[in-house]
Amino acid sequence: MRPQILFPLFAPVTALPGVGPRIAALIAKVAGPDVADLLWHLPVGIIDRRFAPAVAEAPPGRVVTLTVHVDAHEPPSNRRRPYRIRCSDDSGSVTLVFFHARPDYLTRVLPVGAVRVVSGTVELFNDDLQMTHPDHIGTAEELAKLKAVEPVYRLTAGLSLKVLGKAIRQALARAPELPEWLDKGVRSRFGWPAWHDALTRAHAPESAAALAPDDPARARLAYDELLASQLALMLVRAAHRRLPGRAIRGDGRLRQAVLAALPFALTGAQNQALAEIDADMTSETRMLRLLQGDVGSGKTVVALLAMLSAVEAGAQAALMAPTELLARQHFHTIAPLAAAAGVPIWLLTGRDKGRAREAVLTPLAAGTPGIVVGTHALFQREVTFADLAIAVIDEQHRFGVHQRLDLTAKGHAVDVLVTTATPIPRTLLLASYGDMDVSRLTEKPPGRKPVETRVIPLTRLDEVTAAVRRAVDGGARVYWVCPLVEESEAVDAAAARERHAELQARFGASRVGLVHGRMKAAEKDAAMAAFADGTTRVLVATTVIEVGVDVPEATVMIIEHAERFGLAQLHQLRGRIGRGRDAATCLLLYGAPLGATARARLDILRETEDGFRIAEEDLRLRGAGEVLGTRQSGLPDFRLADLAVHGDLLATARDDARLILNRDPHLEGSRGTALRVLLYLFARDAAVKFLRSG
Ligand code: ADP
Ligand code: MG
Repeated sequence: MRPQILFPLFAPVTALPGVGPRIAALIAKVAGPDVADLLWHLPVGIIDRRFAPAVAEAPPGRVVTLTVHVDAHEPPSNRRRPYRIRCSDDSGSVTLVFFHARPDYLTRVLPVGAVRVVSGTVELFNDDLQMTHPDHIGTAEELAKLKAVEPVYRLTAGLSLKVLGKAIRQALARAPELPEWLDKGVRSRFGWPAWHDALTRAHAPESAAALAPDDPARARLAYDELLASQLALMLVRAAHRRLPGRAIRGDGRLRQAVLAALPFALTGAQNQALAEIDADMTSETRMLRLLQGDVGSGKTVVALLAMLSAVEAGAQAALMAPTELLARQHFHTIAPLAAAAGVPIWLLTGRDKGRAREAVLTPLAAGTPGIVVGTHALFQREVTFADLAIAVIDEQHRFGVHQRLDLTAKGHAVDVLVTTATPIPRTLLLASYGDMDVSRLTEKPPGRKPVETRVIPLTRLDEVTAAVRRAVDGGARVYWVCPLVEESEAVDAAAARERHAELQARFGASRVGLVHGRMKAAEKDAAMAAFADGTTRVLVATTVIEVGVDVPEATVMIIEHAERFGLAQLHQLRGRIGRGRDAATCLLLYGAPLGATARARLDILRETEDGFRIAEEDLRLRGAGEVLGTRQSGLPDFRLADLAVHGDLLATARDDARLILNRDPHLEGSRGTALRVLLYLFARDAAVKFLRSG
């Protein structure tokens, strides 16, 4: 149960005076539905109203606070003209200008003969100093209040700074003093204020410097959020570890058979990863390990060998892929190897129905040892595993293993191996998985040629097309990736269709294939198959090919409007070529003009194929959310912390959380109680649940 002290913060914003359903909907759009969400909506700028010159000294274009005498009202001659109010002080005069104003309101707030304080931007108009729609109007006694620094918040259409600012001030007024959950040492080391102070200060920046992420008030709040997230991850992990595990020990016979069937020897990195996985599997605790490696680094083989241990032990293994296409591809890669070892293998996707589906479900329910490959269809309720020992989850670019832990409910003591081709920077890894065990495949299989990458303006498209034509005539196979126009598959598909038609006209219709997200799965498969067997020579595609196409003969990749893609995404795309023995070329076509950052990003790709370096650079250049696209990535969505700048704090929070749970694993002491409040404050309610079961 959420502690009572937090109730005022977890009320809907309509609980605040002056906030009705219409305003609440707008606030929900920029900040969120609850009062607490307003607290986390920190200023993005300031308006300094402290400058209070005499009227004659007010510089046009600046925000000023003026104390003036109201001289005369000049109502407009018609509705379209503005209402003017002449004002002055000893030094000069200024006109206040109002469009669509209500005269009764203006006579009330700016009565002729009175002295008033107005704050806003002044402009010079036909030699007349004017202030159009002052931001604030007050009496002379209110000067001190108006002559202040005002925080500026991110807004949305229909929501004014005045209304949002007022709601935030009311939310702040409701924020209680909370017990301190931070370690004294940590707090004094960084010079951080207490929570309530930090919150108040973060919303009342005195200067632009106070908006910086390393401002003590902001850093404290960011740290709180990171600490809550690290604690939550560790609690989930600890709960996972406490579940009874099972030691899986294979005898190596199936592995031997598969290794003998492989046309290559494992790399050192593969052997190392396998040894780490074996150590996890043979221990009594459950494995939760991330296998990280670039596209083509050989993760599939490692995953297969791990699964074979389970089969050797008489149990079942499952490999789950994020898309149907990938599931099929994994199946086709693994099937011949499994056959070489005499291991049953099944494929189960949402497309399989009726008899075919039964043919998979029956042995799984009967406990037949073997490997099943599939999509998330594998983990639907109707699918029962009699003896699932290991689940491999191929996440490619999406992750969020904590949500997937429920899958372990399927088996008795399922070991989980997550594979990802995303070179997640250390910071992000820590943020999304906590201290999950990680194996990295840093070494590429031998014989790979580096991909030559060139950055070329789109204005040279004709030349590029001609060069592609020559390459195709010479037998090359080419991926042609179309730009991501919008977050809309329909629009992307249209762009791809257009390019497809054009290339067909130039290269011959039969030589150019097309694949995009709006096609039916069977059509996609057919297009891929035609490209894989060489029937088509050019495959025009949207980013659907990013996940898991394997055509070693493809040696050329064209990416249109490369500047619109994420770096990680470009890296993944490029990973589709250079997989065979022939030298490969990637052309990044950009739309001019290209900004300095965009240029720097594309240059990184030209310089290196090291996915980890690319990811680190991308994080540095763009910030965390954008590197992976927080939404799809399953990354925790931080409100206060910015991983691009608070990376060090994250590491500190991890150490802090570890220490906390070592000393007080169930958070029962007085600091423990405060930490529970912290977990609820950042909506990590689910993690608190694990405390009770301990
Ligand atoms: P990933 O899953 O990491 O993208 P894959 O497992 O699909 O990579 O491997 C990519 C290609 O490299 C496959 O064709 C695979 O057979 C091959 N491969 C894997 N390991 C090795 C190795 N040690 N030596 C040579 N080729 C390898
Ligand atoms: Mg693979």
